[in-house]
Amino acid sequence: MRLSRYFMPILKETPKEAEIVSHRLMLRAGMIRQQTSGIYSWLPLGKRVLDKVAQIVREEQDRSGAIEMLMPTIQSADLWRESGRYDDYGKEMLRIEDRHERDLLFGPTNEEMITDIFRSYVRSYKDLPLNLYHIQWKFRDEVRPRFGVMRSREFLMKDAYSFDLDYESSKVAYDRMFVAYLRTFARMGLKAIPMRADTGPIGGKLSHEFIILASTGESEVFCHRDYLDLAVPGEGIDFADAASLAGIVDRWTTPYAATEEMHDEAAWADVAEGDRVAARGIEVGHIFHFGTKYSEPMKAVVTGPDGKETPVFMGSYGIGPSRLIAAIIEASHDEAGIVWPKGVAPFDIGIVNMKPGDADCDAVCETLYAELQAADHDVLYDDEDNRAGAKFATMDLIGLPVQVIVGPRGAKVGEVEIKHRAGGERETLPATDVVRRLA
Ligand code: ATP
Ligand code: MG
Ligand code: MG
Ligand code: MG
Repeated sequence: MRLSRYFMPILKETPKEAEIVSHRLMLRAGMIRQQTSGIYSWLPLGKRVLDKVAQIVREEQDRSGAIEMLMPTIQSADLWRESGRYDDYGKEMLRIEDRHERDLLFGPTNEEMITDIFRSYVRSYKDLPLNLYHIQWKFRDEVRPRFGVMRSREFLMKDAYSFDLDYESSKVAYDRMFVAYLRTFARMGLKAIPMRADTGPIGGKLSHEFIILASTGESEVFCHRDYLDLAVPGEGIDFADAASLAGIVDRWTTPYAATEEMHDEAAWADVAEGDRVAARGIEVGHIFHFGTKYSEPMKAVVTGPDGKETPVFMGSYGIGPSRLIAAIIEASHDEAGIVWPKGVAPFDIGIVNMKPGDADCDAVCETLYAELQAADHDVLYDDEDNRAGAKFATMDLIGLPVQVIVGPRGAKVGEVEIKHRAGGERETLPATDVVRRLA
């Protein structure tokens, strides 16, 4: 992409309404624009990051055996009356009436709809296990939308729903998602710590929130230091091997970890003082086993091997890709701007032409731009006629992992400079070596 033809409205001023760094940087980098309270447009740069984050989520869901589909944003109130949640959900639900005076709502989540789909088609245990997911916009009329896309009213969610014959097999489904989540967040350069979460009136211990430690997080969290260097399972992990999944979940749930609602002072006192991490955290994912809470009232039943009908065991598993982007920035930035981890950067490489119009600079830049794209990199080429200082500031602000800087003196002798955004290391090398160097 040539910057001169792109749409990347950088803000020079720091927006006053933004209280936390990710919100400020997303506005300044021209990633998002608020349309009304808690509702955002994703401008081109932001849209690229959203797509990359959603793609990582998708790849790890697929790897674990979940199957993608797409449900609508608008739902019928009748389904929610069946489960009893239409009245329970309260004011967070945006209720709509159509021209025929039928009650609709903008979905805050999809348990009812997926249960309805399941019961319409699946009859036998032979079709299980099944895990269906979608990545779709949700709406929750939050009392206090704030911090940009961190707590917005309209937000993107990946929500998966598992269906199994009994508790034991639904526990395996839960473990699969647990492990998929560990991999998903690690691929985004994040350390997400699974913390026991409240299961509410359903009980049981199968609910975990995945939390990123960050000083701007909304919840207070307590965990053992061991979590900071636990190894995340590699991509070779066998999702059909229930025992090894359970082993991983065991390792990741044994050291103490809890959010304030679940915090247990007595257990915390048993953690050696030097091992205690008391911090603030951001909830980026939440997995939940709820058994037959929806299948029973909504009559989603399957026939087991014994010929008897039983309500199907279910779980639901959410990740917020839009909130994740803010969380990634909270975890990875410096004074100059965003520092994108490799897998989620809007472009992999930025080329800075320090003197557009200079024949050598233009020629070196054009060649590199073509070669790097041919080598499968996403490249943003700053070909704009602008002060060098402003160009560098913009590149640092938008945080691409690598900058290739082309100035007139170097270009004359065929040399360019590479700057790594994260550590700030610089190296000068022949322009002809750049593609190999960045391979
Ligand atoms: P919170 O405690 O922050 O209100 P939640 O517990 O209500 O979140 P869940 O119902 O567990 O959220 O939804 C799954 C995921 O969706 C969350 O872990 C989070 O990543 C994302 N999410 C929820 N609410 C919002 C929101 N208002 N804005 C952005 N993302 C959200
Ligand atoms: Mg909430
Ligand atoms: Mg929560
Ligand atoms: Mg939650």
